[in-house]
Amino acid sequence: MKLFLASGNVHKVQELQALADASGLPITIQSARQVGGMPPVVEDTGTFVGNARKKALALKGLLPADGWALADDSGICVDALEGGPGVESAYFAGPAGDDAANLRKLVEVMRAVPKPKRGAHYVCVLLLISPTNEEHIFEGRCHGVLLDEPMGAGGFGYDPLFVPRGFDCTYGQLSELTKQASSHRANAWHQLADWVRQSKLE
Ligand code: IMP
Repeated sequence: MKLFLASGNVHKVQELQALADASGLPITIQSARQVGGMPPVVEDTGTFVGNARKKALALKGLLPADGWALADDSGICVDALEGGPGVESAYFAGPAGDDAANLRKLVEVMRAVPKPKRGAHYVCVLLLISPTNEEHIFEGRCHGVLLDEPMGAGGFGYDPLFVPRGFDCTYGQLSELTKQASSHRANAWHQLADWVRQSKLE
């Protein structure tokens, strides 16, 4: 089964392919580049599900008749920012969508926030559109806290600042396998994989 990912983010393709491999399902995650590249999408719905749907539908138009579109809309929701940047996570520091600038901005806006108030969670919505245009939605979360300064160079985005619950290192410091076992994306993927097995689509 081939799932075409409605994203230009190579980290998402890699993480999802690793999750697919670990789940033992014969699923290949194809990058949007394989069908000409991800068309531009304005992520303006205000929800993870709404943005994921826009991305999946934009890619669906480019796929062969038997193609499945998969969108991943994700972000970090910070308690002290009343859930922000949330759906705006990719553009927190501006429209360029620069991961390093976004991370620096989060460090700055959290500078005065004391440790007990530094809770945050990641959200990942995986939205699948079947060749017959049926939609399936899977949502995963991962709770943790934010450090004062980034630590580690692994993962992507806000990972060097985020310490997942149950660990004392950031996703920037932990191994890919550890992230794969506990992340918001992993959580959503496991639900998708269960659905694929139950639907006998493999
Ligand atoms: P999207 O491409 O609109 O879904 O934006 C996702 C943004 O949320 C990314 O650019 C990152 O800033 C952040 N994000 C989502 N998932 C992760 C993750 O696993 N680690 C770190 N940052 C993430």
